[in-house]
Amino acid sequence: MSFITDSPIWRPYTQHSLQPGAFKIARAEGAWLETEDGKRFLDAISSWWVITHGHRHPAIMRAIREETERLDQIIFAGFTHEPAEALARRLVALTPPGLDYVFYSDSGSTCVEAAIKMALGFWRNRGEPRARIVALEHGYHGDTVGTMSVGARSPFNEPYEPLLYEVTRIPFPASGREQQTLDALERACRDRPAALLAEPLILGAGGMLIYGADTLKEMRRICAQYGVLFIADEVMTGFGRSGTLFACEQADVVPDIACYAKGLTGGALPLAVTMCRREIFEAHLSPERARAFFHSSSYTANPIACAAALANLDLWATGEPLSRIAALRDMQATRIARFADDARFSNARRLGTITALDLNVAQGGYLATIALDLMRFFNARGLLLRPLGPTIYVLPPYCIEEAELDLVYDAIAEAADRFGGGQAP
Ligand SMILES: *Cc1c(COP(=O)(O)O)cnc(C)c1O
Repeated sequence: MSFITDSPIWRPYTQHSLQPGAFKIARAEGAWLETEDGKRFLDAISSWWVITHGHRHPAIMRAIREETERLDQIIFAGFTHEPAEALARRLVALTPPGLDYVFYSDSGSTCVEAAIKMALGFWRNRGEPRARIVALEHGYHGDTVGTMSVGARSPFNEPYEPLLYEVTRIPFPASGREQQTLDALERACRDRPAALLAEPLILGAGGMLIYGADTLKEMRRICAQYGVLFIADEVMTGFGRSGTLFACEQADVVPDIACYAKGLTGGALPLAVTMCRREIFEAHLSPERARAFFHSSSYTANPIACAAALANLDLWATGEPLSRIAALRDMQATRIARFADDARFSNARRLGTITALDLNVAQGGYLATIALDLMRFFNARGLLLRPLGPTIYVLPPYCIEEAELDLVYDAIAEAADRFGGGQAP
């Protein structure tokens, strides 16, 4: 059976009473997933935003196989290995200039946690303790307690609210209201917070909310003016998703600390890095052991994951993925344009390889379950799409082809016939 209902597995972000089963995938290749009995799904969300080039890219799979002939996990304090050394050197060369140190971890949440701890350690070690983080409204930075705290408060984290620390939230820079964000940031900076943490150019889980490079550049400038650290969470935007290798490039911005995860290995294996400027590393240098950066995870710099990341960087070095994402950007742009004046949708938008639009949901209490209803509707058509509430987004692996994208957008139009019909808010 390819739809599993009898399983001891407790799945992520799943209300098991509403979603009692899961499709069991036996094979993956390119943009496609396939069950044992041959049911196919077009993976239009890159398996939760991690797969970049496509599933099982041959060069990345080969690198993983080869590394397993040499190394598995190696303790990373006092010991090191070539995949981690080579990867760190290449990341320093590839990322915005000034990000000179690389701290390894294993997921988006852990690399953001590390970033927050680095920021606090920096201020404390300079004898000027600061603890407040400024964050964008609707932000998402992970599901650990620390990253939930900086993310948007929602029904998803309400039960944990008592454990979440306070942050200063500034409004999302919606089109036409950018100045409010910048003013709020400036006010927040006067209270000497440790850092501003933000997803550059697009807030992913918050609803694929897009803002301009000019605003990002201004936000960075204000941080620099007030001596507040700027942390860029490029976990989702990194490695091509935003249309450039890194989203910060589009604003010509160098963060003080940058977080990369999902696409770092092309999505094949869990690996993350927190990169920082020299001053932040150096603030932790001291004859006193207590000033060290006390953070680790068991699988820090896993050599096999590092080998996958190196193969991924080799791919980017050919220039091929950049031309591929430029082509994908155009393919996406022509298709989303079809919905720009469609009264059943609002806010058709795009950034790089990503498009999104909000379905104006019909009256009648659909809103609570609309995402689930839409997901089932798409699944039944052989499409993996996972709307965020009424927001449908397309975030495909870069190998997706024109005809495959047409399947996605035709299904979106059909979904509007079925579930749409509400008034624009
Ligand atoms: C997915 C995501 C994270 C968390 O990454 P995990 O690997 O799921 O822990 C953090 N920040 C952003 C912007 C993300 O999209």
